[in-house]
Amino acid sequence: MALEELYREVILDHYRNPRHKGSLTHAHFHAEGQNPSCGDEFSLDLVIEDGVLVEVATQGQGCSISQASGSMMADAIKGKTVDEVKAITSKFKLMMSIEEGENPVDPARPGAVLGDLEALQGVRKFPVRIKCADLPWATLADALDGAQTAS
Ligand code: ZN
Repeated sequence: MALEELYREVILDHYRNPRHKGSLTHAHFHAEGQNPSCGDEFSLDLVIEDGVLVEVATQGQGCSISQASGSMMADAIKGKTVDEVKAITSKFKLMMSIEEGENPVDPARPGAVLGDLEALQGVRKFPVRIKCADLPWATLADALDGAQTAS
């Protein structure tokens, strides 16, 4: 299977079966985001205990890129510390910002791999869709800003 095809399968799998979908009535932090250029919506509930994202729940609607990105993000951040989540966010943004053909994700370095999120690097070819992929991460940054103000 060609890499692009594999990426497409991964994205569609997350779109059809979003991970950690729902809302938390006892959430400590909540944020909502929109991407008007595509009509995507995303909301995020977090429970943070001792600096760890112990519970993550997401809801949203919109295109496959935005919703798959949110599902992959939820997978990637659950159980991580706030600092680790910020590091993952930086890696994701770096991956989405560099020129096609240069991959900043080095599998030789433990912890450097973004897992399923790497499937989104194909989106770089479509600048208008980068906003879709970025929506859940912008929403996450908002939620974490709230967490930092509170602590
Ligand atoms: Zn979209």
